[in-house]
Amino acid sequence: MAPHTEKVANVLVEWTESGIPSLQSIIDAAAAGMVSRKDEPYRTFVADLTLERAKDFLSKMIRLGHESVLEHINFQFWVSMSRVASHQQVRHRMASYTQMSLRKKRSLTPDDFVVPPQIRPEDLDEWIADTKNVIATYEKWLAKGYDVDVARRKLTQEARTDMVITINARSLRNYFNLRAKHDADFEINTVAKKMYNLIEKQGLAFLFDDIGFS
Ligand SMILES: Cc1cc2nc3c(=O)[nH]c(=O)nc-3n(C[C@H](O)[C@H](O)[C@H](O)COP(=O)(O)OP(=O)(O)OC[C@H]3O[C@@H](n4cnc5c(N)ncnc54)[C@H](O)[C@@H]3O)c2cc1C
Repeated sequence: MAPHTEKVANVLVEWTESGIPSLQSIIDAAAAGMVSRKDEPYRTFVADLTLERAKDFLSKMIRLGHESVLEHINFQFWVSMSRVASHQQVRHRMASYTQMSLRKKRSLTPDDFVVPPQIRPEDLDEWIADTKNVIATYEKWLAKGYDVDVARRKLTQEARTDMVITINARSLRNYFNLRAKHDADFEINTVAKKMYNLIEKQGLAFLFDDIGFS
């Protein structure tokens, strides 16, 4: 497929250093579900709870809709995307965010802007020339002595921003349900799918098996 039609945006998604949920946190989430059902206290059965048993149990909890146990499993990502996508991202309130501030004066280049993959190769130079004009306008208002709070209002929505996101498995399921579908905006759709790909590589896709990705 040609780059402009495959709708994969140039967003970056990585685990943070502590971003992958520990296997013990998966076991403990299942143990939490068992606490709600068993007569015995947590300490008496957790040592014998294997990861495979925990995965089976959590899959059953998901089928039953007992999803609060998934709140014990936390993921953390570093993401770089446009301001337009980050605005959609932070609408997901059941997560924690720390975002790059544009209140700090930035030395911007066209690489600090996310080019939509729909831009046809013959239009790319024109698109980037427009982006350079945006940067020049931002710098013009800074040079006139205006505060960065004023100048940044001239930046367009495709300006890139980085953020760290901490989100639990329950909220991530809701996020994937809404954003990993084809009718979501192409950029946040790419973010969601890249998160899922990272999770799949860690053998944790079972938490999202019932969600249709498109
Ligand atoms: C295709 C698409 C188009 C969209 N278009 C628009 C649009 O045009 N305009 C617009 O404003 N938004 C739009 N949105 C954003 C959407 O309305 C949600 O704000 C966003 O997807 C976050 O979802 P959420 O509230 O489920 O997530 P979260 O904020 O993470 O909330 C998770 C869940 O917690 C519960 N919850 C959270 N807060 C409350 C509360 N205050 N009261 C009751 N329950 C709560 C709900 O069950 C919710 O599903 C769009 C989203 C999608 C996917």
